[in-house]
Amino acid sequence: MDKIAEEAKKIVGEGYVVSDPRILEPYLYDKTEPHVRPKPAREVILIKPGSVEEVSEIVKLAFNEGVPVFPRGGGTGLAGGAIPTKPGIILSLERLNRLSIDRENMVADAEAGVTLGRLIEESEKFGLYFPPHPGDEGAQIGGLIACNAGGSRALRHGSMRSSVLGMQVVLPNGKLVNVGNKTIKNNMASNFLHLFIGSEGSLGIIVRSFLRLYPKPMHSATILVPYGNVEKAVDSAMKMLWAGYVPLSLELVDSRSMKRTAEYLGLGWKYGEGEAFLMVVVSEPNRDMLYAEIEGISAILSEGASGEPILAERKEEQDEILKIRSEIYSAYEKNLFEGLDVSVPIGEAIRFIDSLKKIEEKYGVKFPIVAHLGDGTFHPDILMDSLDREKLIKVREEIYEAAVYLGGSITGEHGIGYTRKPYADKYMDDGLKRLMIAVKRTIDERGIMNPEKFVP
Ligand SMILES: Cc1cc2nc3c(=O)[nH]c(=O)nc-3n(C[C@H](O)[C@H](O)[C@H](O)COP(=O)(O)OP(=O)(O)OC[C@H]3O[C@@H](n4cnc5c(N)ncnc54)[C@H](O)[C@@H]3O)c2cc1C
Repeated sequence: MDKIAEEAKKIVGEGYVVSDPRILEPYLYDKTEPHVRPKPAREVILIKPGSVEEVSEIVKLAFNEGVPVFPRGGGTGLAGGAIPTKPGIILSLERLNRLSIDRENMVADAEAGVTLGRLIEESEKFGLYFPPHPGDEGAQIGGLIACNAGGSRALRHGSMRSSVLGMQVVLPNGKLVNVGNKTIKNNMASNFLHLFIGSEGSLGIIVRSFLRLYPKPMHSATILVPYGNVEKAVDSAMKMLWAGYVPLSLELVDSRSMKRTAEYLGLGWKYGEGEAFLMVVVSEPNRDMLYAEIEGISAILSEGASGEPILAERKEEQDEILKIRSEIYSAYEKNLFEGLDVSVPIGEAIRFIDSLKKIEEKYGVKFPIVAHLGDGTFHPDILMDSLDREKLIKVREEIYEAAVYLGGSITGEHGIGYTRKPYADKYMDDGLKRLMIAVKRTIDERGIMNPEKFVP
C-alpha cells in the first residue's frame, strides 16, 4: 500500500492521504450494530479526493494496481457496506461537497459528499424541499443514492430512486460516465441510471447528481391515532389508503416504543393511551386542502380507534412527535443486537405481524412494532434480551423467512452490504443472481469496487 499512498499523494496532495491508524479508526466502521458488523481490514489507506478528476485519477491508479476501493459517504449505513473488509483504499467523498440549487428547474446539482442535512437546508432557502428522509441527516448524497435510501416519506415520494434525475459516475476503470440529466423524462438510452442507483458502491463511484426538488408545502399537520391493538391500526390504515388518501407518511408504532423513547429523550408522554398508534403526516400547499385531508383521514381512522385522534398543528408539537418516532432506534440502541428493515406487500402487514408474534412466543422475545406502514417496511429490532447469539441469529432468520414467505424482501431500505449477503444469496432468484454477477464482471472487470459486498 506504500506505493499507492505515494502515487495518491501526487494526485490529491499530501494532506489527503491518511495512513495514521488514529485518524483512520472512525473510517473503519459505519453505523452497523457492533454485534453483527464485519471486522475491518487494517492494511488500508484513506484517500480524500477534492474533485471529480481526482476521484477518476485515484480509481485509475487502483485499477492499474488491482487494489480494492471502498467508497465511503457519511458512514451511516446499517449493513456494513462501507466497511473495508480487505486491504485497499477507503475513498471518502467528503470533500466533494459542491451544491447549487437550480430554482427554475427545481433541481439540486449536488456532489456526492453533500450531506442530506445541508441539501435540506439549502433547498429551503429557495422555497424548495427534498422529500426522501432516512433517519440520519449526516448521510451523504452519494451514499443515499448508492443505497437507494427510503424513510417514512417514501409513501408519497418514493425512495431515492424517484428523486435522482441524472448522475456522474466514475467507473471502476477510472473513466467518467454521465447518465441522465435534469429532465424528468429521458428515453435516450438504456436506463443505466437505475442500475447504478442502489448498487451500493459495487459498480463505481457516484460523484455528482441532479436531484429533483419540490416546492415546499406551506401547511402541514400530524395526526396521532390510538388503537387497542396493532391489527386494528393496520385495518384502519388500509381503509384510508383504499379511500385514496396518500399522506406524506403513514407510520405504525407500538405505544411501548413511543413511551420508552419519550422517556429516553426526557420528554413526558402526552399523546394519549392505546396499544398502538398510527402517525399520519399530511402536508399541502394551502389550508383548505390541508383541512379537507385532515377531516377525511380522521373520519376513517377514528372508526376503529380506542380514543380521539390527536391533531398536532404547531411546528414544535409536530417536531416533538416526529422526534420521538425518529429516535426509537436510538432508544433501543444500547440493547440492540440488530435492526432489521424487512418489507412486505402492504396487504400482508397483518399476516406479517401475526408471524412476528409467533416468533416472539417461540423465543420469549418482544419486538418493537415500528413500520413505515404505507410502504410495508417493518423495523422489528432484535433486542439482546437474555438470548445467546445463536438464538438471536435464529430469530433474524425466522423474521426473514416470514417476510419472504409473504412475498416480501429481507431488506426494504438498508440494503445488502456485507451483513445480509448470505441471506440475499439464499433468497435471490437464480436468474437474477447470474445477471448481477454478469453485470458486475462487465463493469468492474478487475473486481476492485467494494468487493465482498452486495453482489452474490
Ligand atoms: C439512525 C439511523 C436511521 C436510519 N434510517 C434509515 C431509513 O429510515 N431509511 C433508510 O433507507 N436508511 C436509513 N438509515 C441508513 C443510512 O442512513 C442509509 O443507508 C444511507 O443511505 C447511507 O448513506 P451514507 O452516506 O452514510 O453512506 P455510507 O454508510 O458511507 O455507505 C453506504 C454504502 O454506499 C456506498 N457509497 C457511499 N458513497 C458512495 C458513492 N459516492 N458512490 C458509490 N457508492 C457509495 C458505500 O460503499 C456503502 O456500500 C438510517 C441510519 C441511521 C444511523
